[in-house]
Amino acid sequence: MRFDIITVLPGLLESPFAHSILQRAQKKGIAEIHVHNLRDYSSQKQKSVDDYPYGGGSGMVMTIEPFAKCITALKTERDYDEVIFMSPDGETFNQKIANQLSIQTNVIILCGHYKGIDQRIRDIFVTREISIGDYVLSGGELPAAVLVDAIVRLIPGVLSDETSALSDSFQDDMLDAPVYTRPADWNGHKVPDILLSGNTPEVEKWRFEQALERTRQRRPDLLK
Ligand code: SAH
Repeated sequence: MRFDIITVLPGLLESPFAHSILQRAQKKGIAEIHVHNLRDYSSQKQKSVDDYPYGGGSGMVMTIEPFAKCITALKTERDYDEVIFMSPDGETFNQKIANQLSIQTNVIILCGHYKGIDQRIRDIFVTREISIGDYVLSGGELPAAVLVDAIVRLIPGVLSDETSALSDSFQDDMLDAPVYTRPADWNGHKVPDILLSGNTPEVEKWRFEQALERTRQRRPDLLK
C-alpha cells in the first residue's frame, strides 16, 4: 500500500514513520509512505501556501493551487483509490474505516493548517474526509500519522503474529482481554491461575469472557 501525504510541515511526519512497526512495514516493502512538501508546489515568490479569507474574519486559508498541482502530478503517475482530507468535520475515524482503507492500494492524504483549506479543494479533489475525534488540532499531520499507523498494522504481513491484530479492541466489536507477563507473583499480586495452566482452550474461553465483561462494563454500545 502506498501513501502520499501532502503537508506544509514534512518534518512533523518524519519521526512517527521511522520507528517500530511502521518502519518495519516500509523495510519489508509492504507499505510505502511518501511525504510531499506543499511549498514545493507554490509558484509564489515566498513559497506561500495560504491567503486571507474572502469575506474577512480571522485565520488564514490554504490556497488551491499548490494542492491542485501536487495532486495532479501524483495522479499522472498512478491511480488513487482515495484522496483523504484530515478534518475535524469529517467522519470519525474508527477500526472499521481502518479495515476498509487497509485493502486499498494508493491513497493521498491532505493535511490542513490555519483555518483550513479552500472549500473548492474539498469539492474538486477530496473523496473522503476523516476526523480523528471531536477536538481541534493545529494541523492535519498528527491525524494523518494516526490514520496511517492504524491502517498499516492491519495489512497482512506487517505484524509478526497476524492474529494479534485480530484480537485487538474494536476488531470484532469487542474490547481486548487483560494481559499479563512475568513475574507470576509481584509482591503478592498474582496472575490469574488459568493463564499458567497451559490449557489453551480454557485460556481462550477465559479471554473471551474477560473481553466480553470488559466490553459490557466500559463500552456496552459496542455490543448492540
Ligand atoms: N477551522 C477548522 C479547524 C482547522 S484546524 C474547523 O473548525 O473545522 C487546522 C487543520 O488541522 C485542519 O484543516 C485539519 O487538517 C487538521 N485537524 C484539526 N483537528 C483535526 C481532527 N480532529 N481530525 C483531523 N484533522 C484535524
